Amino acid sequence: MALTTTDFDTIAAISTPPGEGGISIVRISGDDAIKVADKLYRGKNLDKVASNTINYGHIIDPETGEEADEVMVSVMRAPHTYTKENLIEINCHGGIVATNKVLQLVLSNGARMAEPGEFTKRAFLNGRIDLSQSEAVMDLIEAKTDRSMKAAISQLDGNLSHLIKHLRKDILDVLAQVEVNIDYPEYDDVETMTSKLLREKAKDVHARIVQLLKTAKQGKILRDGLATSIIGRPNVGKSSLLNNLLHEDKAIVTDVPGTTRDVLEEYVNVRGVPLKLVDTAGIRKTTNKVEKIGVERSKKAIQSSDLVLLVLNASEELTDEDRELIKATSGKKRIIILNKTDLPLKLDIAQVNGLTNGDKVIQAAAIKDDGLKDLEEQIAKMFFEEGIENSQNDVMVTNARHIGLLNKAKQALEDVLKGLDDGMPVDLVQIDMTRCWDFLGEITGDSYQDELIDQLFSQFCLGK
Ligand code: GDP
Repeated sequence: MALTTTDFDTIAAISTPPGEGGISIVRISGDDAIKVADKLYRGKNLDKVASNTINYGHIIDPETGEEADEVMVSVMRAPHTYTKENLIEINCHGGIVATNKVLQLVLSNGARMAEPGEFTKRAFLNGRIDLSQSEAVMDLIEAKTDRSMKAAISQLDGNLSHLIKHLRKDILDVLAQVEVNIDYPEYDDVETMTSKLLREKAKDVHARIVQLLKTAKQGKILRDGLATSIIGRPNVGKSSLLNNLLHEDKAIVTDVPGTTRDVLEEYVNVRGVPLKLVDTAGIRKTTNKVEKIGVERSKKAIQSSDLVLLVLNASEELTDEDRELIKATSGKKRIIILNKTDLPLKLDIAQVNGLTNGDKVIQAAAIKDDGLKDLEEQIAKMFFEEGIENSQNDVMVTNARHIGLLNKAKQALEDVLKGLDDGMPVDLVQIDMTRCWDFLGEITGDSYQDELIDQLFSQFCLGK
């Protein structure tokens, strides 16, 4: 049941990224949000202004009378707000000191510091969005390409939720029917009839889940990126190739706060597919020290990749190191790039074809951008062979948590079918059907545990 007012206290945080900027926003949510802001605000009486208005004024320290910033204050009244609570956004000038000062004043006048993701958590707990939609908020913020963004928006719009809710309703209907049949048997063969009903529904829901899971592979890549490494011995043209890939669309570098450079994540947008680059530190040339990737380090990168781009030098004969790398990548999805085809050919291409089990070989000259289009096309084809263009409007599962739960739900239905085949009593089979219903409910948050909610929202950024 959706709530319009809550027992929650009033929370506040800076919702814009830390640092200097053109503007920064202190957000306050809760029953007392407007009251707290009013204590600090010199301008109109915020308690009296209409909802969804933005108001010019100043933030003043009520104790000293000292001015902290010149601001615009947005007033949004419950329930039609992001959190469904009273919501205030103080638009500050964007200076670090002034914004922190405004936040401190808010915190010492009745609000408490929000936890990461707490505004969105309230949107969920107050029933404005369900759990999968809350997760989509984060996905949208973190989207690396336009396609990733579209998938997140579709989920935020509730397309996945609707589908899951339909499945759950169908299961509930059949469970209710089973109850009725058991409690008020109209016919002698009620057990047979009920089994038939359960079997039909289990098969139907199973097929729909299988259909949905078909989108998982692509969906997960869109959300999390495709771990990709560029492998090859020194000087074959790895960094030139990387630069080519980065050419049209600069890498999106995600710095994980509070961590070292090692986990810096870099993404390249290849036709909407976010390639998450593995170990580019070894490829990028630093100014004076050229760091070479050793074979051992390459093997490590290969291991953690979904896709390997193996670069060979077409202007030289195959070396032992090339052979070793061909071998090390043989179990992986890979594309072999014969680089430097602008120079006289020395590499025996037939030999390479023989060694690479018919894997795709692309001829390129990174120095001239040659072969880049072929490479991009091949990457998109390899991972989106079913045609992502067509699936854009359909529902997609992108999130590993959802995929895991759908697999569990699918398994529970298989247990239902097996139970029926084995002639198990209907009331036992019903238990598996109910498990399936529960698993699906965990996706939307209709059935959830507090720890899960805490853990999920703690991954959000502060102020969201
Ligand atoms: P890495 O060590 O594998 O990263 O190789 P680099 O990208 O640094 O390239 C090594 C050298 O080969 C550089 O001097 C590049 O300019 C040159 N190079 C890279 N790609 C090509 C190419 O397609 N043709 C030619 N002729 N030279 C290339």
